[in-house]
Amino acid sequence: MAGIYLHIPFCRQACHYCDFHFSTQVKTMGDLLQAMRRELQSRRNYLEGEAVETIYFGGGTPSLLPTDDIQRILDDIYIYFPVVEKPEITLEANPDDLTYHKIIELARTPVNRLSIGIQSFRNQDLQWMNRAHTAAQADFSVKCAQDRGFENITIDLIYSIPGLSERDWLENIRKAVDMQVQHISAYSLTIEPKTAFGHQLAKQELQPVDDHTSGTQFLALVHELKRCGFEQYEVSNFCLPGMQSKHNSAYWLGKKYLGVGPSAHSFNGATRQWNVASNALYVKGWMNGVPEFEIETLDDRTQLNEYLMTRLRTSWGIDLDHIRSAFGVDLWQIENDYLLQLLQDGLMVKENSTLTLTTQGLLQADRIASELFILES
Ligand code: SF4
Repeated sequence: MAGIYLHIPFCRQACHYCDFHFSTQVKTMGDLLQAMRRELQSRRNYLEGEAVETIYFGGGTPSLLPTDDIQRILDDIYIYFPVVEKPEITLEANPDDLTYHKIIELARTPVNRLSIGIQSFRNQDLQWMNRAHTAAQADFSVKCAQDRGFENITIDLIYSIPGLSERDWLENIRKAVDMQVQHISAYSLTIEPKTAFGHQLAKQELQPVDDHTSGTQFLALVHELKRCGFEQYEVSNFCLPGMQSKHNSAYWLGKKYLGVGPSAHSFNGATRQWNVASNALYVKGWMNGVPEFEIETLDDRTQLNEYLMTRLRTSWGIDLDHIRSAFGVDLWQIENDYLLQLLQDGLMVKENSTLTLTTQGLLQADRIASELFILES
């Protein structure tokens, strides 16, 4: 089983924290979609005939796409790829796009999962982050989508926002739970250099939240969502039983995926490739038959380190038997002292051959994974 990711690189305005690839020049959307459809056709064999189980419109802001275009892209996918009977089809959407009419239109397409970028239910946070929507629009978008029959909705939240108290954060979490969505993704605000916040930080006009506060908000998040029946299946991802994102889970489980659109990444089990992160160069390349992309062959060591990095962030954890059989590495023996220390410190648990991080361990998942990296083939 495989997935298809479609990167729609347009946004109404730039959020102050965002370093994804997007443009606010929406008028070039027609050319870009034509190029994306050409890429879909040209790369029809990339997944080597594996059935497509998930389709994901990400971005950018895919909810800016007219629904006719969404349908056209899906029609192309069904022409060029084998697709399972009931694929998970997700569309990322911003609340300001999800008007009553837009939701009615979307409900007529095969899209069956909405990922709504709410980020906060507080207007002061939304304004500070330069989000294009209000708290009232966030509220309306979820309720209206539920009324129109969407039964698989995920919302994004952000914590570690300066000025967001622990109490404010808990209210945001409870509001999300009260909305009866099936899935919540919550991310700690990170200040990236080439963003408006990054520039403010460089000029010392912004004081980021300290690690202790950030960690406290993460622990509150995990505690509150688990109390309300959510499972944490990845550091930042929580769902009601059985409602994991199949698409994102496929990334973490190492399945193949085709990424279409500027800056989109693809993975076929042996190589990773990524398209040029420029709308103009992407369109020019595909329309002239000479697409720009880079490709990296993943050697065993890189694949193992990627496995450690992604899987330690998930509830599946790492499997020592798999590491031994797939990579010929006895991690338990090589890193015995360190692993025993993690177990003793309550950062990790071991069940048979599987090692998973505890909530405290997840707080340090990236550091722990990098300590375990195998440096030589
Ligand atoms: S809407 Fe999403 S992709 Fe666009 S600028 Fe904001 S965070 Fe980035």
